[in-house]
Amino acid sequence: MDKLEFIKEQLKNYDGEDLRFMEVCGTHTAAISENGIPNLLSPKIHLISGPGCPVCVTVTAVIDKLTELSLTENTTVLTFGDLIRVKGSKMSLADARANGGKVEMLYSPMDAIKMAQSNPDRNYVFAAIGFETTTPVYAMVLENAIKAGVHNLKLLTSLKTMPEVIRWVCKNTDNIDGFIAPGHVSVITGSDLFKELSEETGLPFAVAGFEGAGLLTAIYALVKMKGKAGIKNFYRSAVSEKGNEEARKAVNRFFEPCDASWRGMGTIEGSGMRLKKEYSEYDAGSYGLDEDHMPPGCSCSRVLTGEISPDECPLFGKKCTPEDAHGACMVSTEGSCYNYFISGRRKR
Ligand code: SF4
Repeated sequence: MDKLEFIKEQLKNYDGEDLRFMEVCGTHTAAISENGIPNLLSPKIHLISGPGCPVCVTVTAVIDKLTELSLTENTTVLTFGDLIRVKGSKMSLADARANGGKVEMLYSPMDAIKMAQSNPDRNYVFAAIGFETTTPVYAMVLENAIKAGVHNLKLLTSLKTMPEVIRWVCKNTDNIDGFIAPGHVSVITGSDLFKELSEETGLPFAVAGFEGAGLLTAIYALVKMKGKAGIKNFYRSAVSEKGNEEARKAVNRFFEPCDASWRGMGTIEGSGMRLKKEYSEYDAGSYGLDEDHMPPGCSCSRVLTGEISPDECPLFGKKCTPEDAHGACMVSTEGSCYNYFISGRRKR
């Protein structure tokens, strides 16, 4: 029997204490569903999607500010992907666009600079949402905009960092037995960050890529570590111990740590990044966007913290589906509700 078959057999037949592992990366959430990983595990191994989808953890105050800006004269909001369909307290960016707001989807971040250069009399606001993985991209956009003398492009930032939210989860729940460390984030931070977190929380971390085999290997490693501290890196092709220092330097040139508001979790000290004061002319009004008014009946806050599984939300699959999403976790293709729905996964 080859190694992967052995791991599959071990995971399927596991009959020890119930174990709960959390992934904190939207791409892992999607990959777990796409690879049918839950069906390959014993009913005693539970996978929980944590706060790793950047769109899902963005509070409504940020969406509200973006919709307001899109409806402001001579202003265009630029955004990636799913954010456009997430509801703010009154409307989504898609609704704002239907009401005459100017919203453009970006396929490459550098297009933001080209647009601003092509229309120098128009103001552009780039929705800068994401984790450690995407913050270097915004730093690069800013660096290039400054070099090119572009002054009509600003960022509306809602940038978050992983360690503090993982600490928050560990303080506020006592039923996590280990983490699948976020793959993309680890490329930037390095695996040493998760070594520190493991020592601090006393829980095991396994760094994994996005292939089914790598994820299964990481889960098997967590099972073997049985809730005890330790770090295993199964994504060595992309993740080193120290990470990408150049990317972190670029980020630190323009951004500094700040408190950040997370959907369903409130404000977490030191869990965000904001533009430094010397670059405030490139900020489109990001400070103080803390309020969060989830759509009525939406349980995203409880889903994001692993308190309930998506199918335990009373609206799941009824009033809330990918075609007609009620909450952010059903909008994003990296959201736990979306992935539960499309894979037909249910709590066991
Ligand atoms: S199923 Fe819909 S309403 Fe319920 S938690 Fe998920 S996104 Fe929110």
